[in-house]
Order: sequence, then C-alpha cells, then structure tokens
Amino acid sequence: MSLKHTPSDREQAFLDTVVEEKYQREIINGLAPFFNEKAPEDMMSFYSSDEVVQLRVLKGSERDVETRMPVKVTRHYFNLAQKSKPMQRLVKASPDETVNMQGSEDPGNQMDYSPVEGLLHKYEMGLMYVVSTCSAHCRFCYREELIARKEIQRQDGTVAKKGLAKIPEIVAYIKKHNAEVEAGGGRHPETGREKLREILLSGGDPMVLNNSKLAAWFGALAEAGIESIRIGTKEMAFYPKRFDKTFLDMLDKFHETYPHVGMHFMLHFEHPDEFLAKDDDGNYIKEDFGTFVWNPDAVEAMTQLVSRGWLTVENQTPIIKDINDDSDALRIMQREIKRIGAENHYFFCGRDIVAYKAFNVPIEKAWQIMNESQKGLSGVEKHAKLSITHYKGKTEVAAVTDKPIPGLPGAENGVVIFKLLRNPADAPEVGKVCIVGRNPDAMWFDDYEDRVLFDEAGLFEYSRVQTKKVDLEELAKEAS
Ligand code: SF4
Repeated sequence: MSLKHTPSDREQAFLDTVVEEKYQREIINGLAPFFNEKAPEDMMSFYSSDEVVQLRVLKGSERDVETRMPVKVTRHYFNLAQKSKPMQRLVKASPDETVNMQGSEDPGNQMDYSPVEGLLHKYEMGLMYVVSTCSAHCRFCYREELIARKEIQRQDGTVAKKGLAKIPEIVAYIKKHNAEVEAGGGRHPETGREKLREILLSGGDPMVLNNSKLAAWFGALAEAGIESIRIGTKEMAFYPKRFDKTFLDMLDKFHETYPHVGMHFMLHFEHPDEFLAKDDDGNYIKEDFGTFVWNPDAVEAMTQLVSRGWLTVENQTPIIKDINDDSDALRIMQREIKRIGAENHYFFCGRDIVAYKAFNVPIEKAWQIMNESQKGLSGVEKHAKLSITHYKGKTEVAAVTDKPIPGLPGAENGVVIFKLLRNPADAPEVGKVCIVGRNPDAMWFDDYEDRVLFDEAGLFEYSRVQTKKVDLEELAKEAS
C-alpha cells in the first residue's frame, strides 16, 4: 500500500487558479562550457585562461572542484558579478577549495532529525528538502552534500544520497504526529515534542520549482494543519524576475484561501553588490537624498513582495571569507534591507562543511565584523544576531570579551559566550550558555574543546539525537 494525497475541494479550487510562466534564467551549468569554449562569448572571460588551466588539471582527480560542489550561474548573477569581486568569488570555482577537504559529510548531523526522507523534524519546525539544486550555486554551500548528490552515512549505518520530501508522506507524517500530540495533551507521548506547526521549504532553492509545484506544497501543508510556511531562497539574488505576477498572484490566492497560514520568505543576500546598482567605476549609485539605488529587477521583486503586509521578508547570510567579511558592506546591506521594508535576521558563522577552511571566517572575527557593521545603525536596522549552528541547535555568539576575567583561570585572553537559541530536540534548553576561553583562530567548536570554562548549554557534552524512522507501510495503513 502506498501513500497518496488527494486535494480537498478547497485545495483543488486554489490549485486550479495557478498560472505558469517560462523563465529565461540562461543558466551556465558546470565548468565544461568554459573548458570547451562553449559558453556565450561574453561570458568566456569569467574564468581567465590560467584559471581554466588550473581547474582543468584537477578534473577527475580527488581535488575535482565540481565533485565537491557543482558549478552553476545565471545570466543575471553573471552580469552583476562583472562589477563585483565578492559576487565572482561566490559562484566561481577555485582550485583553493579542495586543498583541505576537512569537514563533515552531513553538517549538523542533519539526518539525525529525519523521521521521513526529505524531512528534518526539529521540535515545532520541519525543514524539508524539496529540490536538490538552485538557480546558481554558492561555492561555500552548506548543503553541498545534497546538491552534489553525495552518499551520506546515516546513524543506522546505511549509506544513501539525501532524498527529497514527497507530499503524501510529509502530510501523513504531520497529521499523525499532531494527532498524537493532541491526544497527549500538547506533548508527543514518546518525544515530548509539541505540535509540528511550521515548515521550512528548503533544498536547494524551492523557488526553482514551478508555481504549480509550490502551490501543491502550500495547499497540502495548509490542509495538514501547518500554521506557518517559510521559504528559504536565494532566488532574489540569482534571478529576481522569478518573483513575477504569476507567482505573486498564486501567493495572494493562497492567502485568500488560507488566511490563517503565515508565510515567511527567508532571503539570502550575502552582499549589497547583489542588489544595488553601480556606476561605470563600480561605485554604488545614490539618489539625491542619499539613499542607494537598487538594480531594477531586485527593487521590483522586493517591492512587490514586501508590499504584501500579510507575509514577512527577512534576510540571513553566513559571513564568508573574501565575500562579505567586510563590515562596511554589511552595514550598507542591513540599512538597505530595512529601508526597503524587509528585516535582517541572522548572520551565521560558516558551518563545518567539507572544505570549510577555504570559506569560513574565524568565529571571533565574524563576531567583530558583525558588531563593527552595526555601529551607526539604528535599533530597527540592527536586529540581526550572529549564530553558529551547533549539532545541538542554533547558538548565538553572544559576546567576545577582550579583557581577562579576574579570578577565572583560562580567561586570561578574554572569553567567548555562546547562548543556545534553539534546540531541535528539547525547547527547555533554550537560553542556556556556554563560556570558553578565546581562540582567535577557532572556526568550529572543536577548536575550543581544550578551553571550556562553563557549559550549562551542554555544547561540549553532546550526544547525538536518535530519531525513529517512520514505517511508510504502517503510515499508509493508518492513513487509509
Ligand atoms: S542558495 Fe543556499 S542551497 Fe543554494 S547553493 Fe547557495 S547556499 Fe547552497
């Protein structure tokens, strides 16, 4: 018996209104077009001949940059990157990437939280892999294992590529979990978790799916009792024309049909070069009154999205070496994002992905860059916090002190204070802190292992979460 999802009448009426559009992203896929000189003529200079030679030598070797992370860029992003080194660095493969391949195959042990393929159930929230690509690919991608279709070892010893979420399985899982929570008086009898009320559509980038597929997810999730849908996307930077009338009409129709369901766009701008207009000398263009001019596609898409008061638009970004480890750029980005009507959510320290040393900024430096970037910003412009995704959950890098703490051995060079913001397994842990002696070179938690001073958050005594895999046959029987 297999699971099937049959739309309700209300859901089907919404789906019947969806209109499709054909998009001209003009994507260049892989390095082959540059190796074989098949890329459009004006794009060929994106890689110098020296770069082509160096990358070609690595092809098929252990250091093949495309095996680590596929190469992809849109015409829109390429055009803007002509005037931006940070944007070039974001999408251009470099031989440096594979010098040190240290890192985790499954950053954050994500698969520990997966009861159904394609779903990570984290307390009240579910993160879904709905697609395994984006319109372009960031070299530092924290989902490189999904996008490069790598074989991942699960906790039970099995090895397989990460699979994508399927509507019937996800809907059946949500309904079953939430029915058990309700029967348990607000807590799941086995895991103690609360209602699964929020879903994050992720991947890959959900905005590469067509309107019908997105609408099918939205309708099915709303009918399953989900209260809030988040969409994690970098499409606003890679191809803002995707936020066109057909998509916005579909959103409006969804809201008209399911007004109780919240909708949140989590954008991913790394740098203001991705959305601000530049003059021929590469300087940002300013209006007479001092504000910056946005590029036409980005301003149109952002204005349309934020004008829908029933949804929220927030930006979050990791701080990555040679891309946005620049407090002046981050200050402009935070000001402009707030000015246009969106919010600044998280800055992240880079994750422990394979080859993270090529991309990550030391944790303490990231904290300094972020704090420097917020000098001169108003209270409403500086809502963003610096977070690092520990295996245990999102953790704020709350403070880095410069001075020794008198009487505290190990604190002679100052301390770093981490605060647990989210714990996917157990909400009561939230708010607990961990204090470590400083290590200016630290890029990941293991660089602090020998200098833990206080750890009520348990960041250094972590034991992996065990999530029971759901038996889909059983689920199908129960759902029928
Ligand atoms: S947009 Fe996100 S998921 Fe896509 S390549 Fe960039 S970091 Fe990875």
